[in-house]
Amino acid sequence: MKSYRKELWFEVPARRGLINITAQVEECLLESGIKEGLCLVNAMHITASVYINDDEPGLHHDYEVWLEKLAPHAPTSQYRHNGYEDNADAHLKRQIMGREVVVAVSGGALDFGTWERIFYGEFDGRRKKRVLVKIIGE
Ligand code: ZN
Repeated sequence: MKSYRKELWFEVPARRGLINITAQVEECLLESGIKEGLCLVNAMHITASVYINDDEPGLHHDYEVWLEKLAPHAPTSQYRHNGYEDNADAHLKRQIMGREVVVAVSGGALDFGTWERIFYGEFDGRRKKRVLVKIIGE
């Protein structure tokens, strides 16, 4: 069995942002040489997510509105975590959007449903953060 590991770095200039990272993950898969197996992609930070959904701007806007309703950033005084930090909302948003995805690898490709794409969800940006790609198989 082959095993491949790579860290991808992202720096979102705003507090929040959603980035389609499918092409970078596909590059990792190509580099790994693995044709059949599993591909894990996870955020290595507790205020960022990796998730799979549609790459559609309307949906990206809907996520922003929905997440701000569930866990508004301001006022930061509403959160106890903000005794010393102003990013409690980012922790909560990350929890909802998830930590990782696992995609099947079949015939050397990510075995997606029609509209599935992999996203990095940033909820406390303006600094460099890592995403781990781990691929195992043959
Ligand atoms: Zn925090």
